[in-house]
Amino acid sequence: MTQTPKNIAIIGSGLVGSLLAIYLRKKGHSVTVFDRRPDIRTIKFSGRSINLAMSNRGWRSLRKVGLEERIKEIAIPLDKRAMHVNDKPVYFQKYGKEGEAIWSISRGILNKKMIDLAEEAGAEFRFNEKVWDVNLPEAKIYTGETEKSEWKEYQYDIIFGCDGAFSRVRHKMQRRSRFDYSQDFIDVGYKELTIPANEDGTHKLDKNSFHIWPRGKFMLIAMPNIDGSFTCTLFLPFEGEVSFESIKTEEAARMFFAAYFPNVRKDIENLSQDFFKNPTSAMVTMKCYPWTYWDKVALVGDSAHAIVPFYGQGMNAGFEDIYVLNELMEAHGDDWSTIFEKYQEERKPNADAIAELSYRNFVEMSSKTADPKFLLQKKIEKWFSAKHPDKWIPVYSRVTFSERPYAEALAIGDEQESIMKEVLKMPNIESEWETKEVENKILGLLGDS
Ligand code: FAD
Repeated sequence: MTQTPKNIAIIGSGLVGSLLAIYLRKKGHSVTVFDRRPDIRTIKFSGRSINLAMSNRGWRSLRKVGLEERIKEIAIPLDKRAMHVNDKPVYFQKYGKEGEAIWSISRGILNKKMIDLAEEAGAEFRFNEKVWDVNLPEAKIYTGETEKSEWKEYQYDIIFGCDGAFSRVRHKMQRRSRFDYSQDFIDVGYKELTIPANEDGTHKLDKNSFHIWPRGKFMLIAMPNIDGSFTCTLFLPFEGEVSFESIKTEEAARMFFAAYFPNVRKDIENLSQDFFKNPTSAMVTMKCYPWTYWDKVALVGDSAHAIVPFYGQGMNAGFEDIYVLNELMEAHGDDWSTIFEKYQEERKPNADAIAELSYRNFVEMSSKTADPKFLLQKKIEKWFSAKHPDKWIPVYSRVTFSERPYAEALAIGDEQESIMKEVLKMPNIESEWETKEVENKILGLLGDS
């Protein structure tokens, strides 16, 4: 269904705002994107960049507007995890079936490219323009230097709040009656570190792996960049015996890396310096509802649903919001009230599901990876799934390599969890699990569920 062109403002030129601008331009709308930051294309990066994992949902949203191949040119496929466990050689775990991979992509490079593409599509960008206030029923926004300075007023037909986890647009919606809002920080923070490329520009670790050093209460991960470097993220409690608080000097940082991550010893100088150069950041789950105001304002991406990053799905979920919005625009044409109503009804349960799954992954990674029962369960699941790939698709694959709703992945994951609880009660399961009896037990329980 075609739409009558509207005059639309998008607040935020992050990944979600810039992709939404491309979609809306393709529908013939006039689009202006506001960002409080300067144009990231004009900022000199120090050569280091945070990277993200793009998976099926993200690719589907890019494919719809013809961008999948162009973005794949700046991404690296990762088809397996490389597990770095102390006193053992590195071992690899395939992510999914043959040909399934997540893709490592630099946030900075991706965002610059998306802004270029949105501009090419005809969107106007207004950088260094912070939105301070929104008049929701009249779709007006107010920008200015500071909260107290004189503000400029702009009037639009529709406003999209793509302004991230601490959204100003949502802030305005929060003042309405019956607006639900919650925000939960976890007690673990993160810091970005770098492993530079070899002198000849090649990667120091396997380039097509997502590297993980699980260490109980903390962990290090690394993803490759196209320049040969790796961006690492150290997840560590803010407080406690081994924590950001307990590492106070570069020498302490060197000792920390040497003790816990011996196979990156060659890069300890770099890692220890980065440790003090780069900020420590917090992670939050933010939920809210409703996400829309009449036919005037809608939240999309992190402004509607910020999640902890342990499933690598935040951006993917935001891109999927846009995909769904587009389908609704095609189905309902100019009926923006219905588009917005159906958008929030469809996306909210899925956003809550991926928030829950991401939080569970955090708990799993930080407290269960050393638990023998948990490890046994994972082994049995893997064994059964290899035997019956049509009957047992692991939750990870349902989230990462499928486009079925997140809520479905969560529900099926819960069923699988209860089946495994029963299986783990079987006598002598610790020593005898690769048996016909266990297989039949699972098949039976699957039949019942
Ligand atoms: P943002 O990227 O936060 O962009 C918001 C934009 O709005 C910014 O440009 C900001 O300057 C602008 N803005 C804010 N307020 C105003 C205002 N008042 N006026 C004007 N402009 C404003 N997701 C994945 O899918 N895969 C991953 O592997 C992954 N890894 C992650 C790792 C970490 C450590 C973290 C923290 C997140 C990760 N994510 C990942 C999540 C992903 O980064 C976010 O979901 C995604 O960036 C959200 O995009 P967004 O455009 O909604 O918000």
